[in-house]
Amino acid sequence: QAKAAGRRTWQVYSASMDEATRRRATLAGLLRRVVERDELTLVYQPRYSLHEQRVVGAEALLRWRHPEFGLVPPDQFIPLAEDTGLILEIGEWVLKEACTTLRQWQSAGLDGMRMSVNVSAIQLLRGDLASTLARILAETGVASGQLELELTESAIMANVGRSASVLHACRALGVGVAVDDFGTGYSSLAYLKRLPLTTLKIDQEFVGDLTRDPDDEAITSTVIAMGHSLSLTVVAEGVETAGQLKFLRDHGCDEVQGHYIAAAMDRDACMAFLSRPAMVPA
Ligand code: C2E
Ligand code: MG
Ligand code: MG
Ligand code: MG
Repeated sequence: QAKAAGRRTWQVYSASMDEATRRRATLAGLLRRVVERDELTLVYQPRYSLHEQRVVGAEALLRWRHPEFGLVPPDQFIPLAEDTGLILEIGEWVLKEACTTLRQWQSAGLDGMRMSVNVSAIQLLRGDLASTLARILAETGVASGQLELELTESAIMANVGRSASVLHACRALGVGVAVDDFGTGYSSLAYLKRLPLTTLKIDQEFVGDLTRDPDDEAITSTVIAMGHSLSLTVVAEGVETAGQLKFLRDHGCDEVQGHYIAAAMDRDACMAFLSRPAMVPA
């Protein structure tokens, strides 16, 4: 009886695996042509400074504008792009596009805005990230101090030695380096002082339950204090309520991102948003 049930379960699992494998193969085929078909696009989420009480920049977030499937979110194709190595080409497109946008905002009179760009572990380990960056900065005329790379803990930890040397080369160009989703990866803190970081981004997992869960409050205030003692800028992501914003301000967090400020939007909408003075509730 149990054995039969077990086999049955396995058959269902096996069938859905075939299905998943097929879907992956289809997507991988389509993904191979996204750059040349111009199907990638970036949306931009404003980043708000609690000290300056104004928007100080934006994070570029990738979308695949598929003719049939519509806007495909990054979680559904970035892992595949990483497995197939396509992330190197896609990642370079993202850097170039984000810098082009930043340059466009500057030409429109928005000076001093900063742009954050997510970078995958593969770009860090296999690509020639620093020289790619140097070339793109030169081509677009963006000041390096206005660009920041975001890397997850697991991307950095995949090879700490290699990460450290690549990130030092990026820092030497003047580009900022943020740890994204901080607190969700490896708990070793020893690497924090070995890496040339400028920013910590507290994961939304902790931010979402601020004012409801004392453990998340303790973790968040501790991360803010630790970040500051290491001279890092601390950013909270996924801020959705006035209560969360108040907690973060009261505990000295430097910057916030989240739907309470604004969701990600296209380049022109974000430029309009950045142009409006202090429209965010204090
Ligand atoms: P992330 O870098 O941690 O980005 C934050 C994610 O949270 C974004 O999802 C954003 O749209 C979402 N978000 C922002 N504010 C809120 C909020 O208030 N509430 C909630 N519930 N969510 C919020 P998105 O755009 O789907 O991106 C998911 C992840 O995909 C990113 O996480 C990043 O790790 C990755 N990603 C995005 N763009 C790129 C890229 O160009 N290259 C690489 N390698 N990864 C990227
Ligand atoms: Mg990010
Ligand atoms: Mg994050
Ligand atoms: Mg995340």
